[in-house]
Amino acid sequence: MAIIKVKDLEFEPYLTRENIKAQIERIAAQINKDYEGKRPLFVAILNGSFMFAADLFKEVSIDAEICFIKLASYKGTKSTGQVITAIGLDQDIHDRHVIIIEDIVDTGKTLNEFLPQLMHQQPASLALAVLLHKPEATQYPIAINYLGFTIPNKFVLGYGLDYDGLGRNIPEIYQLKEQ
Ligand code: 5GP
Repeated sequence: MAIIKVKDLEFEPYLTRENIKAQIERIAAQINKDYEGKRPLFVAILNGSFMFAADLFKEVSIDAEICFIKLASYKGTKSTGQVITAIGLDQDIHDRHVIIIEDIVDTGKTLNEFLPQLMHQQPASLALAVLLHKPEATQYPIAINYLGFTIPNKFVLGYGLDYDGLGRNIPEIYQLKEQ
């Protein structure tokens, strides 16, 4: 792996395919144990998590379902602030064991606003599987049940994560180089 240039920025290698694969296998093994007989419903948040979701789901060997949603945020009233809605959540999650799949938790704002909305639909349980977490950037409390990597507060790219639309197809994860 070498330094790559995407648009105007340079990125350096950070996590290899092997690093990522090992963490995904570990998470899947734990989920296989924790959800045996529960037929969990994975809800993957697009776009960033598509690669993580696909690789994780392939390692899940118990009965399980998956669906994909997009989150859209719009400005609500003064009291509601920013409102986040899920597009494409057509499954009924009531009484289901739901596992959210997210690529990265940065400030935590998105999930902090979205998860309480899901709780209103009264799932049997709600867990969070996240590939990358930047604790130094996190401002909203988020309980991550299954975490791949704790990473420093630097912009990352690849393995589904983009910079201005580019870089999602890179199989490894790169980190923004000090320019
Ligand atoms: P949060 O609400 O936790 O601040 O933001 C989460 C979203 O911001 C992620 O789902 C992702 O789309 C985007 N994001 C946060 N940090 C990064 C990063 O380092 N690289 C990329 N490509 N996207 C990021």
